Amino acid sequence: MTIFALSSAAGRAGVAVIRVSGPAAASALRALAGIADPRPRHAELTRLSDPSSGEALDDGLALWFPAPHSFTGEDVAEFHIHGGRATVGAVLEALSALDGLRPAEPGEFTRRAFENGKLDLTQSEGLADLINAETEGQRRQALRQLEGELGALYDTWSVRLVRAQAHLEAGIDFADEDVPEGAEKEANHHILWVQEQITHHLDDGRAGERAREGLYIAIIGAPNVGKSSLLNRLARRDAAIVAESAGTTRDVIEVHLDVAGYPVILADTAGLRAADGEVETEGVRRAMNRASSADYKIAVFDARLWPQRDAETEAFVDQATLIVANKWDLAGRAESAYEPALPVSAKTGEGLDNLLAALEEVVLGALGGSASAPRLTRARHRAALEECRAALERAASAEAIELRAEDVRLAIRSLGRITGRVDVEDVLDVIFSEFCIGK
Ligand code: GDP
Repeated sequence: MTIFALSSAAGRAGVAVIRVSGPAAASALRALAGIADPRPRHAELTRLSDPSSGEALDDGLALWFPAPHSFTGEDVAEFHIHGGRATVGAVLEALSALDGLRPAEPGEFTRRAFENGKLDLTQSEGLADLINAETEGQRRQALRQLEGELGALYDTWSVRLVRAQAHLEAGIDFADEDVPEGAEKEANHHILWVQEQITHHLDDGRAGERAREGLYIAIIGAPNVGKSSLLNRLARRDAAIVAESAGTTRDVIEVHLDVAGYPVILADTAGLRAADGEVETEGVRRAMNRASSADYKIAVFDARLWPQRDAETEAFVDQATLIVANKWDLAGRAESAYEPALPVSAKTGEGLDNLLAALEEVVLGALGGSASAPRLTRARHRAALEECRAALERAASAEAIELRAEDVRLAIRSLGRITGRVDVEDVLDVIFSEFCIGK
């Protein structure tokens, strides 16, 4: 079946791109644009008309990408038309009236590209991430994954394991004869090597996943210490309500920031303190949850009371915490008096630059890294790698050579599921549903 969809964003635009993929793409090009013998990969200015009425729909560009040299690997036609709602609607309508064409499902173009071997699964995910990227760090990471770096890394491991398996199977086949010298040793060598690579790769502080999803930073502190004011300062807009009376921030408010090119989710939590009233109790419970599950914390104390600190907040301070003394403007002490805290004033903005610089350092430390090797970016990758490693551990310790060969086979399968080289029907729907229609 041939599919079609608007591939550019919906709404008014200068240009809209409609993509058609499948065996009937050529006849669609002929029917709408009157182009019978299209030149591959050339943009042709043409009049588009409704094949049934002959009515002119728009003037635009038609492009032809014959299989297999197209995004999906199938015959693909593209129409670049004026991006008005009625124009786009009319061209889509004309396409749906043609034989053998139907509207595409979300992610269906990319799914076809995967099924035709144009992209592996990690690349398909990279494409979804690239479309969703909002910061430079996300864009760079997604592009590397789309270019196939992650898949290529897993393929090199897979090749080593296939060799190990071959050596082990040779051992089984020759059991009654001379076992080839060194074959088992060779197999063990490959197994251990891949095990080490996986362990190293997994031990990345979840940098790739966090760079994709955002580093979660919770602002914690006693009621009225200035958490909401600080969040607003950092977000440069009024995301949280700042109130005079204590205990007004009753839920968790999150803003998304771009810090040093990486996404950060900054959460303002309800004040950590013994609560009165049911709503506030719930708020405090949520605040505690967020604080303990956050990747990082900003603990806010009152500069006027420093170095005195409330025990509720202090209990959350650990290695992954920036300590801030707020309301510096009311305290009137020198910066050095607050070591190791950063004195700031959410009201006047004093000290904010220092806090932002410290935040950048935190984010780059957690997400930046040297990133010379590609990073895994999803829990799906992590789970499969852990499965693979467990199978290799079993393989390394099993006595019988048959069992070891079987475990290595399972390990290869786990790696193959990440790239989609082995049957992965069950995960496809999940992965491609992340896309919207037209991708
Ligand atoms: P939260 O309960 O911790 O979120 O505190 P808010 O952000 O709601 O602030 C409580 C009160 O302190 C408000 O009246 C703020 O205007 C005030 N406030 C916050 N930060 C500062 C600051 O740095 N200096 C001064 N003078 N007042 C502040």
